[in-house]
Amino acid sequence: MNQSWIKTLLHFAKSHRYQFISATLFSIISVCSGIIPFIAGVKIISGLLQKTLTAQTLTVWLLIKGIAYLLKTICYAISTVLSHQAAYNIIQDLRIAISQRLLKSALGVVNQFSSGTLKNAIMDRTESIEIPLAHFIPEFSANVLLVLIIPSYLLTIDYRLALAVLVSVPLAAIPLFLLMRNFGKKYDDYMAANRKVNNVMVSYVEGIEVIKTFNQSGKALSQFKKAVLSFKDYTLDWLNTAWKSQNLIFAILPTTLIGSLPVGLTLYLNKTISLNQLLLTLLLAIGLGEPLNKLSVFANDFKAMKQSITNTQYFLNLPILPFEEHEVAQPQDASIEIKAVDFGYLPETKVLRQINLIIPNHQFYAIVGPSGSGKSTLIQLISRFWDVTTGSIRLGGVDLKQLTQDQLNQMISYVTQDSFLFKGTIEDNIRMGNPGASDEEVIEAAKASNCLSFIQKMPQGIKTELAFGNNRLSGGQQQRLSIARAFLKQAPILILDEPTASMDPENELKIQMALANLAQNKTVLMVSHRLATIQHADKIIVLDNGCIAESGSHEELLKQSGTYEKLWKAYTQSENWHVSSRERTAY
Ligand code: ADP
Repeated sequence: MNQSWIKTLLHFAKSHRYQFISATLFSIISVCSGIIPFIAGVKIISGLLQKTLTAQTLTVWLLIKGIAYLLKTICYAISTVLSHQAAYNIIQDLRIAISQRLLKSALGVVNQFSSGTLKNAIMDRTESIEIPLAHFIPEFSANVLLVLIIPSYLLTIDYRLALAVLVSVPLAAIPLFLLMRNFGKKYDDYMAANRKVNNVMVSYVEGIEVIKTFNQSGKALSQFKKAVLSFKDYTLDWLNTAWKSQNLIFAILPTTLIGSLPVGLTLYLNKTISLNQLLLTLLLAIGLGEPLNKLSVFANDFKAMKQSITNTQYFLNLPILPFEEHEVAQPQDASIEIKAVDFGYLPETKVLRQINLIIPNHQFYAIVGPSGSGKSTLIQLISRFWDVTTGSIRLGGVDLKQLTQDQLNQMISYVTQDSFLFKGTIEDNIRMGNPGASDEEVIEAAKASNCLSFIQKMPQGIKTELAFGNNRLSGGQQQRLSIARAFLKQAPILILDEPTASMDPENELKIQMALANLAQNKTVLMVSHRLATIQHADKIIVLDNGCIAESGSHEELLKQSGTYEKLWKAYTQSENWHVSSRERTAY
């Protein structure tokens, strides 16, 4: 979808076009009604001057004036309501489209954005088009119409009046040009500064625990303040450069009398036009001031809308993983076959090289290796967070690229150390693993994952509401809830990425028991640096620097005296140190 921003906007506006068309019509009626009081004014003044004005005609014209004013106000209000509704509908569609694109994109791509950047893209940038969009289409059309109608009407009296009334337009073009010259770049810089504040703010809030623990509140707050201040400085700087041109435009554009007054008077004195025509010209010229000023604001709005939609397009165009739309093949079992796989996040650096590995159905394989050796990358490739650079990965004999997204989701449960709980009840959070599960199945999953005991102690049991980021559950309890979710899903392949990392021994034991339940009759692939947890794996794969360095059972690998043996020694030493330090603190 590499299209111009206007096309993107029209694409999203299409389904709300009737609201926009109605808003435009009401706006045109409102603007046209705005001319009527001027005509009524001319009639009253010329009647007074020519002494032909009766009380009856005065009342009629005053009434017309009042009705026109009322019509103008009511139609403007209706137009505004309709256009704001349409604009919010478009924003809602844009937000949904971005979220859907993020869902279809490789998870690895999505994970590269900070939550601040994503919030900015989904909420703030789309929000910033609301005001310009709601006012632009209906009011712009109506004001353009007025700017065309008034000079066209004056053309019918005398072409010089039509030219004279527009003399302020070329004069205002100079500051308008100055204002618009660097608008695109300035707006981009403004958005970048905005993004920076957002990111700093989100990481400040998310990291508040670390900041407090390390007594860094002063330093972190000063970084936060610095970002906010630099954003303020940037905005003020932009305002400083823009206000002179902006005010010049506002001052020059409505001065429509500059040309129309001398030209009109000269033509009247030459008897080329009548007094009525002179008065009408002058009043219409005054009436033209506001629409001209509005058009200059719309030039600003137009640019702002362009920038916002162009930025939104970046997220709408994120590369997506091409999944099969319909099922073309059925995986035969839960085996995993990795064939000659190379992968690099960047084209020039390979993180994995020539990985060949077959994990038979219902076997438990573990992946170990030094930090940075590519363990997480490998299991993420199996879950298709990314696509392999070369080679292939098959599940149950079917290439990952031949599966539909649903098929892949049903095949794999993925549990990491970062268990994520959504806002909702405990039940909602577990049921996410299988929305169609019965209440009994949810309870069963909670039981099997060692959650039931702590759930029952909560105020509303399984109906207890969890708040995002602050749910009063321990890390271990959260992790067991995410295992319960995986339980309910019952996918035949279970991928575990350091599921017990940073757990205390009691929680670790409970999680291991839950995982042992979950792993029954499944193909399990587990990354862990706690080698005791994978000691009994059917096979242990040792990754080193992106390659498979060794593979075999725990005993076989120890005999080889290679990387695994070194890792094991380091692990047992650190465990002994933990035990002895625990013993020391006990005394
Ligand atoms: P491990 O799980 O063994 O610690 P990883 O698979 O996380 O290793 O990382 C392997 C290599 O890939 C490391 O050099 C790491 O810096 C790099 N890497 C990991 N994730 C990304 C990413 N999203 N973008 C770029 N490089 C990455």
